Amino acid sequence: MNIFTFGDLLEHFPFRHVDRTKINFIKDISPQMDFVQVAVVVVSLEAMGQRQGKRLVAEVKDKTGRMELTWFQSLSWVEKSIEVGQSYLVYGRVSFYNGQPQIVHPETELLSINQQPGKNFLEPVYSTTEKLKARGLGGRQIGKLTQLLMGMVHEKDVPENLPESILNKLKLINRFKAYRQIHFPQNADEFTEAVNRIKFEELFLAQLRMNLLRSQRHRFSKGVVFEKVGDLFNTFYEKHLPFQLTGAQKRVVKEIRNDTAKGKQMNRLLQGDVGSGKTIVAVLCMLLAADNGCQSCLMAPTEILAQQHFKTISELLGKMDVPVQILTGSTKAAARRKILQQLIDGQLQILIGTHAVIEEVVKFKNLGIVIIDEQHRFGVAQRAKLWQKATVPPHILVMTATPIPRTLAMTAYGDLDYSVIDELPPGRQPITTVHRYESQRSKVMSFIRTEIDKGRQIYIIFPLIEESAKLDYENLMQGYENVKAYFPEPKYWISMVHGKQPAAQKEQNMKRFVDKDTQIMVSTTVIEVGVNVPNATVMVIESTEKFGLSQLHQLRGRVGRGADKSYCILLSGSKLGNDARERISIMTSTNNGFEIAEKDLELRGPGEIEGTKQSGVLNFKLASIVQDRQVLDVARNIAANLLDKDPDLSSAENLLLNNFLKQKKGSVLWSKIS
Ligand code: ADP
Ligand code: MG
Repeated sequence: MNIFTFGDLLEHFPFRHVDRTKINFIKDISPQMDFVQVAVVVVSLEAMGQRQGKRLVAEVKDKTGRMELTWFQSLSWVEKSIEVGQSYLVYGRVSFYNGQPQIVHPETELLSINQQPGKNFLEPVYSTTEKLKARGLGGRQIGKLTQLLMGMVHEKDVPENLPESILNKLKLINRFKAYRQIHFPQNADEFTEAVNRIKFEELFLAQLRMNLLRSQRHRFSKGVVFEKVGDLFNTFYEKHLPFQLTGAQKRVVKEIRNDTAKGKQMNRLLQGDVGSGKTIVAVLCMLLAADNGCQSCLMAPTEILAQQHFKTISELLGKMDVPVQILTGSTKAAARRKILQQLIDGQLQILIGTHAVIEEVVKFKNLGIVIIDEQHRFGVAQRAKLWQKATVPPHILVMTATPIPRTLAMTAYGDLDYSVIDELPPGRQPITTVHRYESQRSKVMSFIRTEIDKGRQIYIIFPLIEESAKLDYENLMQGYENVKAYFPEPKYWISMVHGKQPAAQKEQNMKRFVDKDTQIMVSTTVIEVGVNVPNATVMVIESTEKFGLSQLHQLRGRVGRGADKSYCILLSGSKLGNDARERISIMTSTNNGFEIAEKDLELRGPGEIEGTKQSGVLNFKLASIVQDRQVLDVARNIAANLLDKDPDLSSAENLLLNNFLKQKKGSVLWSKIS
């Protein structure tokens, strides 16, 4: 359970408390109740059953009714300690047997005649594991250890780590008191006080750590300086830009220019919904690098995406004198050799590619910036390799269309610089999203037919949550056959792509769709990210109830990329759970990825959002960035103010904090690797 020290045990907080001040009457006990406590007299105690089935059953009563207590183990101890005619305080999980309440293996405590029944505190209950339980370390035993420990711990053992001014301002109790009260509160108010203090501490320290990491990176990690905006950038901007940049695009380019001009290493997360126009931002960054004598590299997660980028960017830069090349796993040996040579001697300015670009043999003369498209497909280790490709670490721009809610981004990626393109290029027609039931399938199919007859292309997506799930796979095959029955060859052609296909076959099928050789793409979510087929206007999602919100939004983003009106049709069965109903209603009511991401965070929690699982930052013991947003905001503001005034935490008042942060290790150094 990751408990190695007394400190760890102290930080193993109870997951709930039992109110031992409350006594239940037997007549009030109902099957809905979980744990009950009764004050009873033992009427009888009898051994029953044989050998394995042997047990002890006590009948007990209070003034309102009777119930049974049963023991299967430690029978001789029970026989000795339970006396007929005596009064006991009995506590345990209630179950119903033949309509009668009973407690198996209750806790019992002798009640003396004039003792007031009931204890005077809330008893903590701790999580444990089955294995530990089997060894006698159940939730209550852990409580006993904690209690023992608490008796030996003094204020100096749990020293304060927050400045007094903050405690006073927010009326928070001190740390030692908080630890005592979270385990053993006298009442509900004490518990709340403890929770408030600890939640704030968690969120505040996380914010502080992130801010510190970022400012340290800015101060100590020198990046290549892109001093000037030169001819290449200006010529392209003035003569070859195919459209006006949106306000958001301009802002982001400016942010990046500011960053890279300062001699600090940029590590920026750029978020922009699908179709918001991130590619052009990447191009401008690469020109900026070239203007300053630096090479740049754009990485995409798949061969298809790399090819698409290469095509787009080569076209954009067609009239400019900037060499661009592509390097992927399928680049032929001779071409590869040439590219590698040109990279080393500095002739090649812009390299686009897949994982192939981070192989050791790929060496740059003067790599200034690395742009990573659709970040989550690249592992952390792969990204870290980039750092070894230049003596001065290159600037890093990670672009993602998976919108991360603002609160989450600022908490989990607070050590990164952060930009958002929150505006779509003008003139986009919003995608119309509708919900249809399975029973309306034939109508949906005839709608598809009219679109195909107009020359458009269609996606039909099946859930294949785990690529190995047999049932899902069969559904996909069945679905494919069904689609084929509606749309027979040779009038119609269908591509199919799924995770069980060899990569080459996948690429081949994808390519046929991209080249318009097929009108329909039947696929699993493997096509989720980045594919650009502007002629596709309908996205049909099968078994919508099986998809998460962000995933649905990503899929929808595959259409609506061209000038034609596009549609997203969410097919579902007739029986829908509340969550599925909610997801569908969100999807049909908004196209805004950030709004959707916020809802997703509320529905599923931060752990489920792509890429945040590995981030140790979000592993709070008590705080939740969803439920405790207000506290988070307060913590963030206070942390920012504090660092404004005292960037090194060197003032006397912040000494406690400084020391505490230095002691606590284990925070992941994300800033090094985006
Ligand atoms: P994404 O952010 O999803 O990578 P892209 O960069 O692929 O988006 O851009 C999507 C489409 O929008 C492309 O066809 C691109 O040419 C176009 N586009 C980008 N920016 C603008 C703009 N400011 N005005 C008009 N069209 C734009
Ligand atoms: Mg893109």
